[in-house]
Amino acid sequence: MNLQTRCSSCGKFIYFKERAVDRFALARKLGVKVELNCDYCNKTHAYPVNNINARPAKYLIILRTVIFAVGTPASIFVVIFWAGSLNSVRAFEALACFVIVPYLLYEAIKSHQEQRVNYFNAKQYG
Ligand SMILES: [Zn+2]
Repeated sequence: MNLQTRCSSCGKFIYFKERAVDRFALARKLGVKVELNCDYCNKTHAYPVNNINARPAKYLIILRTVIFAVGTPASIFVVIFWAGSLNSVRAFEALACFVIVPYLLYEAIKSHQEQRVNYFNAKQYG
């Protein structure tokens, strides 16, 4: 999970990663207070787990955008390429449905990611 909190000295975001589905799991791994060092002011403070929030992973945002941006034109191209060799409307319709696959993947990744982030952020520790 990609996690973040605000530095109590300078107020900038501190980002870090830890495998934890919620704040309880995070507290079990790192303790009720997590010691974090700020990259901006270089000060280390202990932050309560309730002040730590989950955020969506950047690589998944990039991945789902690439799947949508590259997959949609590619599937349209495939449909147009094969459409000429099809001789029934039904077959063409079935093939045309293929175009929405990249969009469905995009939505699946997005909703899975949002669920994980919301689950972490919704439950307070203690
Ligand atoms: Zn700072």
